Amino acid sequence: MVDLERDDRLKEECGVLGVYSPNQEAARIGFFGLFALQHRGQESAGLAVSDGTKVRLRRGMGLVNQVFNEADLGDLPGHIACGHTRYSTTGASEIRNAQPIFCQSQVGEIAIAHNGNLINTRELREEMEADGEHFDSSSDSEILARIFVLNMHLGPEAAVAEVMRRAKGAYSVTVLTPRMLIGFRDPTGIRPLVVGKLGEDGYMIASETCAFHPVGGTPIQELEPGEMVIIDHNGMRLACGAKSERKAMCLFEFIYFARPDSAMYGTSLYSARERMGAELASEHKVEADIVVPVPDSGIPAALGYSAASGIPFREGMVKSRYIHRTFIAPDQRMRELGVRMKLTALEDHLRGKRVILVDDSIVRGTTTKQIVKMMFESGATEVHVRITAPPIKFPCFYGIDMASKGELAAAKMSIEELGKEIGATTLGYLSIEGAVKAVGKTKDQFCLACFSGDYPIPVPNNLSKSAFDEPPEFGEIATISHGQFKLIEM
Ligand code: AMP
Repeated sequence: MVDLERDDRLKEECGVLGVYSPNQEAARIGFFGLFALQHRGQESAGLAVSDGTKVRLRRGMGLVNQVFNEADLGDLPGHIACGHTRYSTTGASEIRNAQPIFCQSQVGEIAIAHNGNLINTRELREEMEADGEHFDSSSDSEILARIFVLNMHLGPEAAVAEVMRRAKGAYSVTVLTPRMLIGFRDPTGIRPLVVGKLGEDGYMIASETCAFHPVGGTPIQELEPGEMVIIDHNGMRLACGAKSERKAMCLFEFIYFARPDSAMYGTSLYSARERMGAELASEHKVEADIVVPVPDSGIPAALGYSAASGIPFREGMVKSRYIHRTFIAPDQRMRELGVRMKLTALEDHLRGKRVILVDDSIVRGTTTKQIVKMMFESGATEVHVRITAPPIKFPCFYGIDMASKGELAAAKMSIEELGKEIGATTLGYLSIEGAVKAVGKTKDQFCLACFSGDYPIPVPNNLSKSAFDEPPEFGEIATISHGQFKLIEM
């Protein structure tokens, strides 16, 4: 039985990809493209590939290189590919949540990869069940895929427009049909999606620009909110799927989530993060001997802070390259151990020093507390924590794992109390205005919900209630049936 109360839809972070390469193996390009999007999801990965008639799919649990080897890529012949990386912190770490979703439709086999979260999953599902649809999972991505598939006989433009008319929330999507690659972005444009060229006559679609360079691609443009791109043997065409009432790109993508070598809103994220550091230096000055980044995400901001303040930049810890994000550990005890497994202090750099410690964000506060403790144990005399994300006080319903409100450190206590809790000498957060200014845009161009509680797409009560209280429990929530819409296990 599908239990909607125990849904994991609030917890997904993902990367999506599409490849159309008439003269090259799309699986190989997709594989390296997914590598570049690995930071957006480490729990599962998948690729669907079409040779013009048949669509083949491989997906599995783990990192991209755990799911695919050389031989697997050989089993996926064809020139069109659709790929996905997925991450979730929940117990629902199961193959059935892996994407792309694969389904049979009236116009042939279709694969769909989705980044983001819908907020009207329950309503859509009830409506569709009343119309006789049967669901294989509780996932919002399946609902989105079904709306698309049910309307595909009207043509891709109409199918995407129908998704946009009915689905509310955040979605950046790539779709593969036997002969076509499609990409589209929700009318609010919360999650990113970029289209570009691949060689002479190929195209690519990806969550971030960083996926293009390793495979010789060139980004052309970010899809506009509500826009779609359709790629087939005639080339690429853009179309409007729905009018955008409000553009609200996720500010947290700029602060932390996206890779620093990507560009969004036409701005290099590395440079935007450096400017955030400079803003932080002007908003929260303090006398100190060295500016120390929390690697790797704090490095550009620490450089910006150092340049603006004139206080020398100095590495204060080394990060193990082979331990993945501490967040991946599902419980608090493992998360605490995880920080120590990941970071080692450089005592010679820290002993006797007043340290400004720069990081991107505090979510639960576990990481920062451990690092501050490590700085003092390594001989630092003062540790001034500076954070480029404004205080995170509200859960995200649109595809970033921000925990429930009860777990968010800045929602539970004042900044002063939090400073004491993490053991910092002082704690300073960048303001929303400062972060937005660093990107070079205005506040009305962003989703700031996790900082301000202003949700650009209103969140229904039944959703917000569970996420504002305790974290939902997770477990087995669906059985896979074999209908016309088939989720394939591999
Ligand atoms: P914590 O405060 O212990 O929950 O962890 C905060 C750290 O986790 C930040 O410094 C980021 O480097 C990282 N982080 C923040 N948000 C996320 C997220 N949504 N997914 C994974 N890691 C995150």
